[in-house]
Amino acid sequence: MKKFLVKPESKVKLSKWDPNDTGDFKDGKEAGLARLEKLNGKLETLQELLFAEHKHKLLIVLQAMDAGGKDGTIRRVFNSVNPAGVRVASFKAPTPEELDHDFLWRIHKEVPANGEMVIFNRSHYEDVLVVRVHNYIQPEVWGKRFEQINEFERTLAENGTTILKFYLHIDLDEQKERLQARLDDTSKHWKFRIGDLDERKLWPDYMQAFEDVLSKTSTDYAPWYIVPANRKWFRDLLISTVLVDTLEGLKMKYPESEENLDGVVIE
Ligand code: ATP
Ligand code: MG
Repeated sequence: MKKFLVKPESKVKLSKWDPNDTGDFKDGKEAGLARLEKLNGKLETLQELLFAEHKHKLLIVLQAMDAGGKDGTIRRVFNSVNPAGVRVASFKAPTPEELDHDFLWRIHKEVPANGEMVIFNRSHYEDVLVVRVHNYIQPEVWGKRFEQINEFERTLAENGTTILKFYLHIDLDEQKERLQARLDDTSKHWKFRIGDLDERKLWPDYMQAFEDVLSKTSTDYAPWYIVPANRKWFRDLLISTVLVDTLEGLKMKYPESEENLDGVVIE
């Protein structure tokens, strides 16, 4: 899965990243889904351990174009974890109060605490993506934010936060299909916004903005993964694998009881 990691300071060209890639996994969808189920079980155990140990914090950032699959990822990858220790924070267009503060203010309030796993559905990266593409603010302002973001994430990392960032990479055709499916099915109309079509027209601008994000903000302490996301099963498998590997790498331990339990008998 290392192949999908963006090396720090590398120059990303998204046209070179295939959204249909399935890496070394050649066994296809059924086998992929079976593997995902096993990983879900492992993630359940690891999340309980994270909660019990109360030492590490885990932050997962999801970014994608509309219909890129953020919601589906959250549903499928985290379907076995205990909701008591996991939280999703979704970032919409900022409120007037949020706009009166620096762009990281609303973000910092949502970061994970000890023992917690937090999933960012969109994030501070919107502040160098949508605002840039729409010229909401001057380049002098957003241009400084890459470094500000790196410093912010470094602070989190140095205070016990493990950060994993996933860009869900789909192509224009796949987005068309998914948006069309939302139009065709009345039960999906709530997900469709006419404005999504305007955003779609800005696809090349967004790709350029994402390339800058991926090139400038993938660090050792907060790496980006470019997740081929046309195939949902592979998207989920890749993310789940990275999560499980990362959590296993933390070498967490269940805390010991504060009391001596030797010889305790329950009558
Ligand atoms: P889906 O991806 O399933 O459509 P969503 O995350 O797009 O769900 P919406 O309510 O449709 O949810 O969109 C949220 C909107 O908020 C997006 O258009 C996003 O670009 C916008 N947004 C988020 N953060 C910012 C920000 N800092 N500045 C301006 N717009 C933002
Ligand atoms: Mg939307």
